[in-house]
Amino acid sequence: MLPPKSSQSSTLNNPAKLISLDTSIRQMIINVSVYPLVLGLLLFTSLAILLSVYATPVAERALLNGLKASVVGLSQKAAALIDSQLREVSHLVVLFRASHEHYLSLSRHTDLPLRAPEPQFSTNADGVFFKSADNGGAGMYYSGDTEIGAEQRWKARNLEGLDTLYKSIVQTNPTVAQAYFNSWDNMNRIYPYIANPALRFGPVMHMQDFNFYYLADQQHNPERRVVWTSAYLDPAGMGWVVSALSPVYRNDFLEGVVGLDIGLAALVDNLLVDEHIGSKKVFLLDGQRRIVAMSNDMSELLGLPELSGHAYSEKVSSTQYKPDSYRLDSLQDQQLAKRLAQFLQNNEQVARIAGQQHDHLVTQVKIPSTDWQFIMFYELSDVLQSQQDMLSLVKKLVWGLVLIVAMALLIYIPYVQRRRAWYAKTLAEPINKLASLTSEIGQRPLSVDEIQAGGIRELQTLVGNFAHMSAELNQRTDKLVKAVTAKRLIEEKAKLYQRLANTDQLTSLYNRKFLDTVLRQEGVRAGRYGDALSVLLMDVDRFKQINDNYGHLAGDAVLKRVARTLKNSVRASDVLGRWGGEEFLLICPKTSLSEAAILADKLRALIEEQSMEMPVTLSVGVAQLQESEKTEHTLGRADKALYQAKASGRNKVCVAD
Ligand code: GH3
Ligand code: MG
Ligand code: MG
Repeated sequence: MLPPKSSQSSTLNNPAKLISLDTSIRQMIINVSVYPLVLGLLLFTSLAILLSVYATPVAERALLNGLKASVVGLSQKAAALIDSQLREVSHLVVLFRASHEHYLSLSRHTDLPLRAPEPQFSTNADGVFFKSADNGGAGMYYSGDTEIGAEQRWKARNLEGLDTLYKSIVQTNPTVAQAYFNSWDNMNRIYPYIANPALRFGPVMHMQDFNFYYLADQQHNPERRVVWTSAYLDPAGMGWVVSALSPVYRNDFLEGVVGLDIGLAALVDNLLVDEHIGSKKVFLLDGQRRIVAMSNDMSELLGLPELSGHAYSEKVSSTQYKPDSYRLDSLQDQQLAKRLAQFLQNNEQVARIAGQQHDHLVTQVKIPSTDWQFIMFYELSDVLQSQQDMLSLVKKLVWGLVLIVAMALLIYIPYVQRRRAWYAKTLAEPINKLASLTSEIGQRPLSVDEIQAGGIRELQTLVGNFAHMSAELNQRTDKLVKAVTAKRLIEEKAKLYQRLANTDQLTSLYNRKFLDTVLRQEGVRAGRYGDALSVLLMDVDRFKQINDNYGHLAGDAVLKRVARTLKNSVRASDVLGRWGGEEFLLICPKTSLSEAAILADKLRALIEEQSMEMPVTLSVGVAQLQESEKTEHTLGRADKALYQAKASGRNKVCVAD
């Protein structure tokens, strides 16, 4: 049973599976250098594609979601800020009302002590009774059509006692622009002081006509709560304001209404001063979807200039609200108006609104203490731009990497080719040369001098050892060849001498001496094995005549021809030789007398047939070795038979008894 073939031996047995050293070096270099680069190239390319196709929108969505949340948070914070300011003002109004109620409940018959200098009053030609000098307190105005009696004079003088309160409320609250009290009999007390109120209010002013009065009266505010006006143009010249109002009752009699004005411009500005509010585009919307107040940036975006009080109306006879153009649904930018309306309708917290120039995130938050909405526009382009910038930078970087790797490949491949050639020369060439020289070992003397080992130590050693081995082998082979040749020469010589000693020179047949030896040996062998052994003694007839007639050389030629003919006609086992002169002896082992006789006659006939210019015939005597007969005796009997053949006329075969 054969052992299983190892893979090595199967590879060795299959040359088609072998690769050259050169190919192997090239593959190795490509495997360790070019393939990783190609892999890197593929990786970076797919990363770049992934970034472009997938990551960008995902990142934008994520950023937008995060942004929405924080923008909502910001606007909630802003709304809370507004709300807390409004609440604070409401609380102050409550305090303010209580103080007025206390003063107005006092006896109107005695004057109260005043800390400030005694106020001075004047009456205009049109009947307006007013405080004509600023003593650091509030201003005072009575409508021209109010008859100034004792009560009016008492109130004008004694309410001065509240001026410290007026002053401290306005001065300690930046949101509060004015503090005032309007009475049922058309008196107006207001802080800060107004020097000539008639110029501002006109000669006649009925408080009940104004929102800052009637909104708090019995009919509009039976619960006597603090109420808020909508945005209106302040008759006292503070621009657009809202007021927190509270009725002042003496028992069930409405003495008047106290109010604190909040300047809307200041409210929005205060808000925008807060650095945590990320947008400068904000506005406040009241319950009628009217823009109460807005920042300058918002005004620009909406294309709606904020009204300055004085430009709007010089003369005020009743409450001036913002005109209809400040209603959201009558904005010039219809698209924006529609989108905003839809946004408010859906009560969404935040939405993205596409603009002509920029996209915005829009938020709405209700201000709890009023029916107002705080709306904030947050410009997206800034944030998204920086994100897009970053993404495009990353994309550029990745594509840059792709480019660099591609360039590296472009530069590296020729370099690898050059290195490959160098390695092939340094490593493969000497090894290949050694390999091809190996096949010639022993055929010729090998020269390893031309093999360059490329400065590699192991190769140098290999080449040196190979040279040594080759030289040693050549030397030994030479010695061996010489020894073998000498031996063969001696043998050949011996054979030649042997042949020469046993051969007749003229016919190249065996000579008599050799025939004698063979006959003796065959005689012994035949005797031992009981084989037949016959001899044929052949003599050319009348040869002397041939010599005489044609010459000795012609006789020689006849002898040679007869010898050749005989040699070609006998078996290899028969031994033919020249017995002497023109006589031939054929020794036929394992041949009976009768077989020998037939052979003899065949040979005789053949020689006769071949004689051409001159007649050449043979006479043959045949004898078989008798039991315990000596071969000399057998030969003698053959000779006798030959004699008989001659005697009976020649060209005959005679068989010995
Ligand atoms: P026979 O028929 O009775 O045998 O007659 P013959 O002439 O053949 O016999 P004989 O013995 O008288 O003659 C033999 C001759 O052969 C004598 C001799 O000169 C000649 N002879 C012997 N050896 C050679 C040889 O090597 N070359 C040549 N040319 N002649 C030879
Ligand atoms: Mg003779
Ligand atoms: Mg003869």
